Amino acid sequence: MPSSARLQALQTIQDRAATPVTSPGPLEDLWASDVFSLAAMKSALPKAVFKSLQRTITRGGKLDTSVADVVAQAMKDWATSRGALYYAHVFYPLTNLTAEKHDGFIAPQSDGSVISEFTGKLLVQGEPDGSSFPNGGIRSTFEARGYTAWDVTSPAYLMQTPNGTTLCIPTVFVSWTGEALDKKTPLLRSNAAMDRQAQRLLALLGETEIAPVNSSCGAEQEYFLVDAAFTALRPDLQLAGRTLFGAPPAKGQQFDDHYFGAIPERVQVFMQDVEHQLYRLGVPAKTRHNEVAPGQFEIAPFHEAANVATDHQQLIMTVLKATAKKHGFTCLLHEKPFAGVNGSGKHVNWSIGNSTQGNLLDPGSTPHENLQFLLFCGAVIRGVHQYGPLMRAAIATASNDHRLGANEAPPAIISVYLGSQLEDVFGQIRSGSLQGSAKAALMSLGVDTLPDLNKDPGDRNRTSPFAFTGNRFEFRAVGSGQSVAGPLVVLNTVLADSIQWIADQLEQKLQGGLPLEEAAFAVLQRTMEEHGAVVFGGDGYSAEWHQMAVEQRGLENLRTSADALPVLQRPEIRALFERTGVLSAVELESRFEVYAEQYNLAIDVEAKLVLRMARTQIYPAVMASLEQLAGSISMQESLGLVVDRSLLEQMAALTQQLLSACEGLQEVLAATPADAHQHLRHCADVLLPLMSGVRGAVDALEGLVDDEQWPLPTYQEMLFQR
Ligand code: ADP
Ligand code: MG
Repeated sequence: MPSSARLQALQTIQDRAATPVTSPGPLEDLWASDVFSLAAMKSALPKAVFKSLQRTITRGGKLDTSVADVVAQAMKDWATSRGALYYAHVFYPLTNLTAEKHDGFIAPQSDGSVISEFTGKLLVQGEPDGSSFPNGGIRSTFEARGYTAWDVTSPAYLMQTPNGTTLCIPTVFVSWTGEALDKKTPLLRSNAAMDRQAQRLLALLGETEIAPVNSSCGAEQEYFLVDAAFTALRPDLQLAGRTLFGAPPAKGQQFDDHYFGAIPERVQVFMQDVEHQLYRLGVPAKTRHNEVAPGQFEIAPFHEAANVATDHQQLIMTVLKATAKKHGFTCLLHEKPFAGVNGSGKHVNWSIGNSTQGNLLDPGSTPHENLQFLLFCGAVIRGVHQYGPLMRAAIATASNDHRLGANEAPPAIISVYLGSQLEDVFGQIRSGSLQGSAKAALMSLGVDTLPDLNKDPGDRNRTSPFAFTGNRFEFRAVGSGQSVAGPLVVLNTVLADSIQWIADQLEQKLQGGLPLEEAAFAVLQRTMEEHGAVVFGGDGYSAEWHQMAVEQRGLENLRTSADALPVLQRPEIRALFERTGVLSAVELESRFEVYAEQYNLAIDVEAKLVLRMARTQIYPAVMASLEQLAGSISMQESLGLVVDRSLLEQMAALTQQLLSACEGLQEVLAATPADAHQHLRHCADVLLPLMSGVRGAVDALEGLVDDEQWPLPTYQEMLFQR
């Protein structure tokens, strides 16, 4: 029988009353009802003001200051008529979380009365404390000023909680000296850098009407749901977001029976609640299903402009967590909450395009004739080859390290999967003669009543970190708890650099008198000769690939964040960000420092927690169980029975192992290096292995100790009870 605390948790779960779903009405009424959308602005603003604002949103350029006052007034009227008393500048510090500074609309008057007030100045600029957020030394506490500035391209919305309604205004966050302290500023800059180069290349291809080029993102979010009654008994889930101990259950995911299986009822109610809230917020939640592991699920919105998709992705994480609480769950966004069980990622689907040329990564049915596609896709290939280590750095977190390369998620080696058709086309280009491309086929199912299916020209590859999927690339190695901004910044910046590299050569050849097609082919051939090594269509999990990638293809295998984060300090990376105007040297260095500190902090906290749980929860349980066992053995001896002491001896040996592993960990915890680089290595090479040592003993003990003494909810309980 489980321990009394666990029994109580199980009882709580049994007794949970189903939360009824209230029908929210038709989608059309629900959709974006809490968003100050273009449609809402159109009806609330004078025509000229709306036109000016719309121009800024769709075509870029500075917002007319006279417009801001009018917009602020309309926005306030809209928000207060829906019950908002407060507004918040929402920003995205370097923590992967969302930050808000709330201010009331209240303005006291000289006669003691108050009015509600909101001006253009308050809308456009806010001032939270710049030193209280991770800033990598850019801001010290005595020079605290930081500003938020309204991002017109991401719509304002109402956040409704049981505690009231707040008008939320998406903003960038910069220091008094103008350095970016957030994730949005470089995202906007990277998009602009990519747009500049894409415009150039399209013009070289003979286009005359070219709308601004924007990046798009559709991010698939994986997550776990665990009943909150269990989380309450697991300090590791509360503090670290993952289990630091836990023996594998008798049944795991080996039956493959969870993926796309029927969604459990309580979870479905939760999902519907999440989706209704997201619809109100204008987040186009589209797909939901069970994931591979028991207790694991996915939600994917329809793709949007990268900046808006990023803000929406943050909202999704916020809504998932808050709604889970309401339904008696804890939503785990950690990449690897359960050892030995599939982890969670966030596949970032990414493409670029505009309203005049469409999706620039759409190959059409005859990609070999599609010069525009070949050049843009070639630029992506070159970018991934040139800057793969930077892409690895963009997904480097302490938690994602547990997932990458664990044979369930892409390896830490960054390569590109193109699919058979495109791999063939780019192979032909490399060899110097382009003949044609394999046709997409119809697939007959052999039953008259079933339709013929259109077969995609290339298959999927789940083992690739970066895969072409028909008209976009899918960055599959991004962590589930991460903001997608960092990976998108890297993709856009790398692409900007690569398009420039291609456009420069093309321009030169055209000026030298070569016809466009010949010039483009020559550039593409060079691209594939120099960078084709990054294209890989085989099994990314295999040991052969790991060896071949490094030894023959010259790709880097940056296994841990301690290996990957220092990439941010390489001179060529600094040059890349400076040249494209995305991050200054100071901003980049501050990012290295913040991310390294976060990695170190996460592991330090976990190490301390391992010690505490092992000593204050596991050890006492083991002692109680040992005492019982020893008592029963001496009783058997006094009765003259033949006694088997093997269990007792095994437990005693493991206890010894547990104690000495704890001692070892305690010792190195006391000797934390001050230098950031040494600290990174200390965490990766010393702390993590020692923590595993403690875990090894604890997990083995879990299989021996009397269940009634075991204090922690087991994997079986957490994964299967809901
Ligand atoms: P799968 O699980 O098969 O990879 P999903 O349908 O779950 O696919 O998710 C695919 C995601 O890719 C969705 O968010 C979708 O909107 C997005 N997507 C589709 N086309 C594009 C595109 N051109 N650019 C960016 N994202 C896209
Ligand atoms: Mg996917």
